[in-house]
Amino acid sequence: MSSESHEFQAEVKQLLDLMIHSLYSNRDVFLRELISNASDALDCRRFAGLTETSLQLDGEYAIRLVADPEKRTLSVEDNGIGMTRDEVVSNLGTIARSGAVEFLATLEASRKSEGSGETAPELIGQFGVGFYASFMVAERVEVLTRHAGAPSGVHWESGGDGSFTVSDAERETSGTTITLHLRSSEDENELADYTNEWVLRQIVKRYSDFVAYPIRLEVEGGETRENADEPLNSMKAIWIRPAGEVDDDELKEFYKHVSHDWNDPLTHVWARIEGTFEARGLLFVPSVAPFDLYHREMAHRGIQLYVKRVFIMDECRELMPEYLRFVKGVVDAEDLSLNVSREMLQQDAQIVTIRTHLVKKVTESLLALRRDDSERYREFWEQFGPVLKEGLLDLAEKRERIYELMLCASTHHESQLTALDDVVERMADDQETFYYLSSPSLEVARSSPHLEAFTARGIEVLLFADPIDELWLKRMPPEYRDKRWQSIDEGEIDLGSAREKEKAKEERKDEEDAFKGLIARLRAGVQNDVKEVRLSSRLTTSPACLVRDEGDLSGPMLEILKQSGREVPDVKPILEINPEHPLVERLKTLHEENGDDPRVAEYAQLLYGQAMLADGGRVDDPVEFSRRVTELMLAAL
Ligand code: ADP
Repeated sequence: MSSESHEFQAEVKQLLDLMIHSLYSNRDVFLRELISNASDALDCRRFAGLTETSLQLDGEYAIRLVADPEKRTLSVEDNGIGMTRDEVVSNLGTIARSGAVEFLATLEASRKSEGSGETAPELIGQFGVGFYASFMVAERVEVLTRHAGAPSGVHWESGGDGSFTVSDAERETSGTTITLHLRSSEDENELADYTNEWVLRQIVKRYSDFVAYPIRLEVEGGETRENADEPLNSMKAIWIRPAGEVDDDELKEFYKHVSHDWNDPLTHVWARIEGTFEARGLLFVPSVAPFDLYHREMAHRGIQLYVKRVFIMDECRELMPEYLRFVKGVVDAEDLSLNVSREMLQQDAQIVTIRTHLVKKVTESLLALRRDDSERYREFWEQFGPVLKEGLLDLAEKRERIYELMLCASTHHESQLTALDDVVERMADDQETFYYLSSPSLEVARSSPHLEAFTARGIEVLLFADPIDELWLKRMPPEYRDKRWQSIDEGEIDLGSAREKEKAKEERKDEEDAFKGLIARLRAGVQNDVKEVRLSSRLTTSPACLVRDEGDLSGPMLEILKQSGREVPDVKPILEINPEHPLVERLKTLHEENGDDPRVAEYAQLLYGQAMLADGGRVDDPVEFSRRVTELMLAAL
């Protein structure tokens, strides 16, 4: 096949446009990205060589930088796995990750809203632009690559505009050379000279010092230095060094190398297993959630598995449960078989032990963070809390741990979040229940009439509004510190001491007799909409509210089911009215004076609609509802 021209995928075009026109700060990172890719390719090659001897390399695995100040080019060369022609076209022409379209749309929007200002690099960094970062510094990029085992190579070239060309080409050995034709530094935005030895040295030292392969530099036309053969990087596998000897900057750069994230990590965790077998790990919790955290197939670079310093695989899912899928880093085991396959991993007892240990370490360090820096912990929770809560759906997990980490909104605090342990501390001695309310939003929850009786008695109610909350709360969550979970908008609510309850029961009996007639009339007015009308013990200031029968699906849950296209059962709520509210008292009188007064049925509909709105729901017939309200207003004038 000869030379072919291809259009970049639309998202790549958008991305390149952003890179070229709005990212001016910290362009040095392009080199880190290229070196990381080269190092990944070497990892792959080395691993492939373990099982297929024909792919083994005779010489040394290395990365070479070649700078030519005269031609203004910089090449990054590796003797790694290389790419086939198909791989070149798809790897360097598309973004195969789900959610990319939406993510780029938000980037574009943020750029527009800031006028010509630059897009925050952290945003782009979240996306992991990798190879495309070359276009921040180069006006043209060439790639010459040959896949290990293939007879010849491929040449790729693009000016970053809208298209690229691919053609067959000769390359003596397998590997990849990426050549950047650098932009001129007279550009409006000052560019460093990326052909200068000292500039390159500094960048490599700063960003890629721990890369496990030697990175060597050649400057064309430069003097031959004595130590020209010496690598620019120290190559120390950071995770096997004693924790105390690794400084913060090294940790940060290592994190960026393994995660391809451009932001600093939130925290790091050293893990060490000793005993019948040995393993070490260096893990990181990111500070910003990646854009594709909620895309099922995400797990783009999670934990890398090494065996005795030899890279085995990227995103080793077996080492972390789904609900900690945002954790990144490296695990290095001493005694695992070198050619483990994915299938074997799942059953491997050592992997299971490592995983258990890692989960423990990560959760402990998050708890420590909460203790030492509650503000940062709260930021963490806002980014990753909903993912952690997914773990509550998994019966095989130690859900207790997630309860320990959980923060929730509560009636006890206006804006702060609270930990379950603190809730337990504040409870009355005989309270056996976490009371909670799950609503479409926290605003709706905070103003819900369901809270009235609890507020009146000073009982704390936890407020939930993440979609995931409906799911775990609905599945009989296990007790935490001997406390059950009870939704306050479900079933009958029974607050107060045993004596109070006994007394209330008697009073209730009398009240029920007194309101019997009105309730029957109201029920007739809303018989198509509700299951039952009854007196409420949970209201103090509102005239009415809607509750679910015990075991019925909640409104938000029904919404989730509807959205997932499932058949939704016809669940009707119960309308509870507050016998102490003046409106309800007046209705009772009205009904006693004239059992056929049509206004009572009208009011039943209004009470129902109002209660629906207070729950953040929608009235079934908004036009009819407003007609009733208007009439009422008119009558009152
Ligand atoms: P990422 O590295 O985040 O996957 P990149 O845009 O940097 O994204 O690279 C896309 C893909 O191109 C890589 O996943 C890899 O498969 C391939 N690639 C990039 N550089 C090299 C290289 N030096 N050798 C082999 N493959 C490479």
